Amino acid sequence: MGIWKVFTSILILNLFWSKPISSNSLSSAELSEIPTNFLNYAKKPELVKWMVDVRRRIHENPELGFEEFETSKLIRNELDKMGIAYKHPIAVTGVVGMIGTGKPPFVAIRADMDALAMQESVEWEHKSKAPGKMHACGHDAHVAMLLGAAKILQDHRHELKGTVILVFQPAEEGAGGAKKMVEDGVLDNIDAIFGLHVSADLPIGSVASRAGALLAGCGFFEAVISGKGGHAAIPQHTIDPIVAASSVIVSLQHLVSREADPLDSQVVTVGKFQGGGAFNVIPDSVTIGGTFRAFSTESFKQLKKRIEEVIKAQAAVQRCHATVDFHPENKIFFPVTANNKVLHKHFENVAGDMLGTANVKNMQPLMGSEDFSFYSEVIPAYFSFIGMKNETLGEFPSVHSPYFTINEDVLPYGAALHASLASRYLLEFESKSHIFDEKIRDEL
Ligand SMILES: [Zn+2]
Ligand SMILES: [Zn+2]
Repeated sequence: MGIWKVFTSILILNLFWSKPISSNSLSSAELSEIPTNFLNYAKKPELVKWMVDVRRRIHENPELGFEEFETSKLIRNELDKMGIAYKHPIAVTGVVGMIGTGKPPFVAIRADMDALAMQESVEWEHKSKAPGKMHACGHDAHVAMLLGAAKILQDHRHELKGTVILVFQPAEEGAGGAKKMVEDGVLDNIDAIFGLHVSADLPIGSVASRAGALLAGCGFFEAVISGKGGHAAIPQHTIDPIVAASSVIVSLQHLVSREADPLDSQVVTVGKFQGGGAFNVIPDSVTIGGTFRAFSTESFKQLKKRIEEVIKAQAAVQRCHATVDFHPENKIFFPVTANNKVLHKHFENVAGDMLGTANVKNMQPLMGSEDFSFYSEVIPAYFSFIGMKNETLGEFPSVHSPYFTINEDVLPYGAALHASLASRYLLEFESKSHIFDEKIRDEL
């Protein structure tokens, strides 16, 4: 990673002639003013107008995972206009920008860029122009908010006590863009990373998260259960895979209800059952598929092991043969998204200063998953949700709905929160060594 090497050599040179990085020279009152100042800055009409415009341009041209070429270009154009250096390509379409001293500490803020393969049903001026593709998870807003944060930070770059890394990643929706970013070295030398997701369930001006496991680890499975097809009226000459698959599915229900600790939340769902096409024919084979979720690595591994055993053994009971694939359609496992406890406190402080402590909510873990987890596996990481519900503006359907809508009032909040979390981190955590001795794994 050439850029990091440059940073490292700058650091080494600096050791000889510059003062050590000054610790926080601001009073706690001054520190606590940063988030509100940034929010006021982000709410300036010209900045809001620009973020809204960026978000709408991305919304009109949604691109699927690892195909975010135009989105990536738009981001680079905006970074160019702001005079922010960046590295590209990383993980195909990813962009990594840098603001600040070029010296440690390095703190990252992240946005995902990809859309979903679904048709938008919202009729409005900036509806998706790509049939069958839609920004229905708010990643268009995430990009706009991170660019907004970039603008705030770049305009305050002389006050930064370290370096903020802007991570624009591809392919959050299932293809593991974050995994590829990590493999490509994006986290090298980074002390901590923050991510935000818009939420239609939380009121505008509020945020929510928790310490420890926030989102589940997630895996997929697909099994082909093979028998011997034939005439439906002569079952004795067949080996019926439909009945075998049915037994398999019923037995899979017992993994969570009978084998898992009731206090350790887990899910096994079969969402796919394909086989046969005629009323009077027993097919040769049936394909089933589903997902499984858990909040600890141990429970996740146990579920995986038992899913395979149950499918194979139950198929055998019915004289069928089963093969199990845990990476159908190249799907990958997502680890648990675990929030670092020290960063949780930091988040509560910063968001509380910006929004008032009553608007910083502690939430229960969710069974959903996020590929931000690939970052949280490697370095101290923190993921949170930012509210956009405003009943006076109407209803905001949940993510992945064809009616999903962004309340664009969220954009300045997200931009200011990103910028505040990062800049306060640099001011308050000179070095990662004194806070991050704890092992994230222990939190799971
Ligand atoms: Zn999504
Ligand atoms: Zn999302």
